[in-house]
Amino acid sequence: MAALDGLPPLRDVIQRHGLDARKALGQNFLLDLNLTQKIARTAGALDEATVFEVGPGPGGLTRAILALGARKVIAIERDARCLPALGEIADHYPGRLEVIEGDALKTDFETLAPEGPIKIIANLPYNVGTQLLVNWLLPKAWPPFWQSLTLMFQKEVGERIVANEDDDHYGRLGVLCGWRTEARMAFDVPPQAFTPPPKVTSTVVHLVPRENPIPCAVANLEKVTQAAFGQRRKMLRQSLKSLGGESLLVKAGIDPARRAETLSVEEFCLLANSL
Ligand code: SAM
Repeated sequence: MAALDGLPPLRDVIQRHGLDARKALGQNFLLDLNLTQKIARTAGALDEATVFEVGPGPGGLTRAILALGARKVIAIERDARCLPALGEIADHYPGRLEVIEGDALKTDFETLAPEGPIKIIANLPYNVGTQLLVNWLLPKAWPPFWQSLTLMFQKEVGERIVANEDDDHYGRLGVLCGWRTEARMAFDVPPQAFTPPPKVTSTVVHLVPRENPIPCAVANLEKVTQAAFGQRRKMLRQSLKSLGGESLLVKAGIDPARRAETLSVEEFCLLANSL
């Protein structure tokens, strides 16, 4: 039976193009188009947007993004085996899907970015996703070229992204994400939703840039969070010793006896600005 978009079911596409999932590429495919639509809807209205999709694979999420009306999708896929299947989707939506074969970690998204609102949506291997997320959060100029990020992660990574102070999952990633974005976990996706199923539950995280993050040099923020969370159970006067320890903390107006996990994003910015 054909799917609602008139294209063949993904299981057939995968079989016809011999797209057996490869572990080395972190391939866990989503075949349920209701679920891929739910992920795409998390990104909000798409009709005005150009969407960067990273790792489209056989195209389940790509189809959902297009069916929900994205003006244009630019999809970056590393596995050349997926290109013919993606070509069929491009034929079905003339002029709306551009596929680039390549490694997303080496792609300069900003120069590829056309005019107009850009949303990024991806179901990627989690290590690639985390690295891309960090890259997307680091540019000197802010707000960034993207309007939102809607990304699938292992649930544990999602918890680190949205964590606030005093959370068990709070760490460098939570500070970086909380500083520049408002991040929320949208919903969980159980292992059995994927083919083949991964070992753990996944979660969809949605991030939008803050318009006016606290002014702070990224490199300094990274220095203080790295030192502080490198020894997260120790008092800050000890963990920040190499950066000035007690005198740095006094300058920032922070009690040297506190621990990294109790500091808000704002306080980390104060520390970074006192370096
Ligand atoms: N989006 C599809 C879905 O939801 O069914 C596929 C998801 S699968 C978890 C991850 C996809 O990312 C695979 O198609 C894989 O080939 C691709 N991929 C892995 N590493 C990549 C990289 N560095 N750059 C671009 N694509 C990558």
